[in-house]
Amino acid sequence: MAPSLDGLPPAGGGRLTPGVFPRPGDDYSGGMAVPFLTLNQNITIPQLGFGTFKVDPGLTQGIVEEALAAGYRHIDTAAGYHNEAEVGAAIRACGIPREQLFVTTKLANPDHKSGDVRGAFERSLTALNIGYVDLYLIHWPMPALDRYVATWDQFAQFKAEGLTRAIGVSNFQVPHLQRIIEETGLVPAVDQVECHPVFQEAELSHYLDDHDIALEAWGPLGQGRFPLDGYTPITDAASAHAKSPAQVILRWHIQSGHIVIPKANSRAHMDENFDIFDFELTSQEMAAIRSMDTDHRLAADPNERND
Ligand code: NAD
Repeated sequence: MAPSLDGLPPAGGGRLTPGVFPRPGDDYSGGMAVPFLTLNQNITIPQLGFGTFKVDPGLTQGIVEEALAAGYRHIDTAAGYHNEAEVGAAIRACGIPREQLFVTTKLANPDHKSGDVRGAFERSLTALNIGYVDLYLIHWPMPALDRYVATWDQFAQFKAEGLTRAIGVSNFQVPHLQRIIEETGLVPAVDQVECHPVFQEAELSHYLDDHDIALEAWGPLGQGRFPLDGYTPITDAASAHAKSPAQVILRWHIQSGHIVIPKANSRAHMDENFDIFDFELTSQEMAAIRSMDTDHRLAADPNERND
């Protein structure tokens, strides 16, 4: 298949070529009805993306190529997933122009801890080998180390240098966000956090709304930690709309304004998760799902994860 990096320098550069970024209004949808959000750093993001956590590096290129063929135009990876090179290979092989794709990666905790933030970002750019990234995130705040403000300062540099189109954070709680905003004046474009019907991040969500920061939901289907068909607000809505529980949950995220990045290993699940734009949950159905919130996270606590 023809190389897909239209307008970009040959492989190996790992650097931005100014002028090839997508502009607001560019189409990343592959012709399908994926909505876009405009982030506070004035770029658009497809509201539905594809996650790659725990995708075996040996399988990643094929799975990501399959997701791109299914219509996804937004891929989420991380240095810590050890599959950036394979994600990049899929993007180069797929034949879709680079500027129609949205790619996120994240700073791994050991590099955040050691302070080798620039070296880590350059290694990510080299591994991905797709010219630039669309969004670079601090993966975890690791508050006990007290480095995240300095790291955020460096992220601002990367954006100023044009190596990433936008910068954001992941797993940041309100006090962490308050500190980086107060001490640097730079507001993250997104906060990628655990969020699903059983743990809805209600307090954080209000803060993000107030500061025009998009909530990006990781573990949007609960990572298998709760049964998708175990709650009547979800199964009732699924029956009413002739959709699956997973589709109802993803639709709830979309209507809640979240960016959502479900992972799927099979084409059937990829297609199912993509097929959520031809129905709408009623306000009663949305409220019933909101009432499922336990306010207890199911995965790691960002305040306690420090390595
Ligand atoms: P997820 O909630 O997306 O769940 C994935 C699981 O659901 C897989 O086992 C998959 O087989 C299954 N599944 C997918 N579609 C299904 C369907 N239609 N019906 C039934 N089961 C289905 O969990 P995740 O992968 O952990 O989260 C999504 C993405 O978020 C990750 O892949 C990663 O990119 C990102 N993430 C980020 C962080 C972070 O700290 N920033 C942490 C975890 C995940």
